[in-house]
Amino acid sequence: MHMPTFILIAASLFMTVAPVFAAEKHDHSHDEDLPRDLGSHVHGEVLLNLVLEANHLDVEMISPAMNITGFEHTPSTEEEQQAIKKAVALLGDTGNLLALPDAALCEPGPATIETSLMDEHAGSHEETAADHEHDADHAGHAEFHVTHRMECENAAAIDSITLELFRHFPNVEKARVQWIHGQRQGAAVLEPDNRLLRFD
Ligand SMILES: [Zn+2]
Repeated sequence: MHMPTFILIAASLFMTVAPVFAAEKHDHSHDEDLPRDLGSHVHGEVLLNLVLEANHLDVEMISPAMNITGFEHTPSTEEEQQAIKKAVALLGDTGNLLALPDAALCEPGPATIETSLMDEHAGSHEETAADHEHDADHAGHAEFHVTHRMECENAAAIDSITLELFRHFPNVEKARVQWIHGQRQGAAVLEPDNRLLRFD
């Protein structure tokens, strides 16, 4: 899932999130219907992992850069550089991705935004043999990998989540959601006209 060279824009508690999702990914790597390791990279789709545990909600979003900036090549103009900066700013605000019930009293915690868009190999057609081997599934593509943690005083009140990302990133047509809510878990596919995820 990871590109070889992520640009770390905002460091935080990513390492506390990673093990949970690593286990998830392992399960799905055995699904032979999915292309190896990049089942996520369909333009117009994002992968969203939500884990609600104790008093916090961990949010992980993996999206093709195409959905976010409209391109996946190494930025070569000032305009493209600005588009990336704007995207990073948008992605850094949890409220642009999802909305939680007011009664849950949630505050945004640490967030990370990583992208392979700045990787010099992204979008390149001049790959070396070694690059090609390493990047076989990624050639010409770039992604954003975003994590957010929400701290909630009354997490028990979170019975649903509304996805706001469709409004802020109109290129996203579909969100494939996997969620863990205490002892329960599930999956859902949400779309711009079906933005409400219910944990039931
Ligand atoms: Zn792509």
